[in-house]
Amino acid sequence: MTTAEQRQAILDAVDAAFERQVEFTADLVATPSLRGQEGAAQEIMAAAFQDAGLALDRWTLDPEELATHEGAGAVAVPYEDTEVVVGTYEPRRESGRSLILNGHIDVVPTGADRLWSRSPWDSAIHDGWLYGRGAADMKAGLVANVFAFTALRAAGLAPTARVHLQSVPEEESTGNGTLSALQRGYRADAVLISEPSSGSLVRAHVGVIWFKVTVLGRAAHASEMSNGMNAIDAAYAVIGELRKMEEEWNLQVPDSEHFGDQEHPLNLNVGTLHAGDWPSSVPDSCEIGFRVALLPEMDVEACWRDIVDRVERLMAREPALEGTTAQVEKLGFFSNGYVLEPGSDAEGVLTDVHDYVNGTALDAIALPGYVDSRCYGLYAGVPALVYGPLGERLHGADERVNIESIRQVTKTLALFIADWCGVESV
Ligand SMILES: [Zn+2]
Repeated sequence: MTTAEQRQAILDAVDAAFERQVEFTADLVATPSLRGQEGAAQEIMAAAFQDAGLALDRWTLDPEELATHEGAGAVAVPYEDTEVVVGTYEPRRESGRSLILNGHIDVVPTGADRLWSRSPWDSAIHDGWLYGRGAADMKAGLVANVFAFTALRAAGLAPTARVHLQSVPEEESTGNGTLSALQRGYRADAVLISEPSSGSLVRAHVGVIWFKVTVLGRAAHASEMSNGMNAIDAAYAVIGELRKMEEEWNLQVPDSEHFGDQEHPLNLNVGTLHAGDWPSSVPDSCEIGFRVALLPEMDVEACWRDIVDRVERLMAREPALEGTTAQVEKLGFFSNGYVLEPGSDAEGVLTDVHDYVNGTALDAIALPGYVDSRCYGLYAGVPALVYGPLGERLHGADERVNIESIRQVTKTLALFIADWCGVESV
């Protein structure tokens, strides 16, 4: 336990550096880090880790090594420029509990520019919010990890346990960045991921599968349509069948321990669709990209078999689909859900410091989306806490993060490091 005096010194240090922290976050948001193009932003993180006195480790994702991990996502893009960056602090003598602070550098595509009030890379500050793609999800949290860590040093303290700061790619598509860090051997007594969670603790998150269905038909002139097999029409049938599956999966929701009170947490999203090349030609192929969620109580392998079986049975049974084929392939995420079991020491410490900083009890939420906590939670047996600032319009236009919530989260993280790892004066 840190003393009240030490705690105050840490909180003051966060305040003293906060203007710099917001500027740093804005600079990082202004540096695009779309999938496969994370290099420039990772350079900034590597420099920040070094400035914080951390020993740097960085490596390129290896698709072959990842393929050996049961939780890895199918690799659909080249990984040549996709790096994980880790900074490590080694204490003079190790007496406390070690910690991984994790965050992802990748951001999702911006969508249509016309929907944004200004450029998604503008990172403007307005009325207490910082705007831009990735501002909330999750560059504010990623940077908060660094400033929380450096606040201890500024307060004349140092952790008495190993601390790793991780900046990972691929969180928005596969989870392969954090899994790669796991494969490289990074372990600790707890993991904290500062995803935007409105200052709540993520108790559970759903699993996610990305997959692609390629429907093949037969081309013909539109005036002789009956000679062809329209792949777009067949794709409608495939989507309809998978919508039925979605509804059936959601029937299991009321029995779920952590998602039982949610209306429809298992969404099937038709995310991409590519087909046809001419209005007067019957399209001979249609490629559909799907994302679907599963409960922590469900098993990703069984869900995958369900998806494949349903599409195969549909194609075999519908007379109207005769002459068309559908191939189902994994495309990215292949993830089980995760539940952070209540009662861990790590949760106890977070509950305490959250209350200390905010004067409110820490509440827990079940997230109907993916976060990387399952990587450490399921495959390393480490309690993985997800806790971060207030964000809005994630993955949408005018994404934004609340600046005061960044300050509160950074203070909570700093006290968490101190209490979890222990501190000594330096
Ligand atoms: Zn995120």
